[in-house]
Amino acid sequence: MEIYVVSDVGGTQIRVATYNIHDLTMCSQKKIATQSLKQNPTDRLINLIDEISKGHTIKAISIGVPGLINPRNGIIIEAPNVPGWINLPIREILISHFNVPVFLGNDANLAALGEWKFGAGIGHNNLLYLTISTGIGSGVIIDGQLLLGEQGMAAEFGHVTILPDGPMCGCGHRGHIEALSSGTAISKYVTEELANGRNSSLRGIDFPSSKEIHAAARNGDELSIEAFSRAGKYLGIALANFIHMLNPSIVVFGGGVSQAGPLLFKPMQDALHSSIFSEDYLENIVITTAKLGDDVGLKGALALLLSNYQLLEISSP
Ligand SMILES: [Zn+2]
Repeated sequence: MEIYVVSDVGGTQIRVATYNIHDLTMCSQKKIATQSLKQNPTDRLINLIDEISKGHTIKAISIGVPGLINPRNGIIIEAPNVPGWINLPIREILISHFNVPVFLGNDANLAALGEWKFGAGIGHNNLLYLTISTGIGSGVIIDGQLLLGEQGMAAEFGHVTILPDGPMCGCGHRGHIEALSSGTAISKYVTEELANGRNSSLRGIDFPSSKEIHAAARNGDELSIEAFSRAGKYLGIALANFIHMLNPSIVVFGGGVSQAGPLLFKPMQDALHSSIFSEDYLENIVITTAKLGDDVGLKGALALLLSNYQLLEISSP
């Protein structure tokens, strides 16, 4: 059978799936741990693709990478959670092994593509995807195209500055939206307030997770409610900025923290409405949560492959 191979590489797992090129049904999928003492992640990826595609003909490969990549030259600039993936010419490596076209995308960009083609964003031409989890990632579809920028590094909205003297971001700069509204930021805020002597049902838990804070908030814990409300407020201010830049028709929220629902989104909506300079931006906008769940990485890699592979076929003689 002729197949497409797609992969979603994360810090914990490498997932690979194969699709029948004619009807795009998934034929098989497999996941393995990203790290092993015996093998580097690149060899693990290659071996897994070899194994899952045995007996079939691979037509093209598409990979989602958790980090900074240049999709134009196929080089991983830096993927901090995958050991050894720094300045790695992954496309060249995979092409020399498999001898088929290889496409590469950043995981948040691919999530945006996946939700656009197969999930919550079907039918929209201007989509903003934001994932709120331990960090904040984003991807943008503008006028029916994935926004890449000169080196493919566009749409890093997690590192937009909201409070210049605000809390430190994981990237080493202050006041980025990731340092204010991510799961990590919510945990940090609660931890600091507990250290300041604030009363809370979370007292006694070292560095409570955003999940634990969510549960406490649902039980009426004031500090926890305030932590989500604060994160939501800054998210709303940031979102107004993004909407001014992009004028999307849909905003899709992925990531675990988005499961907090109204605890996060009500204060976000309030801040959005008070920060937007014209309500016209919000008149028909859809603000919703992601639909694809755990498969978003694979579906996004498939969407990337389909759009690029078709272009290749058209341009080849
Ligand atoms: Zn940052």
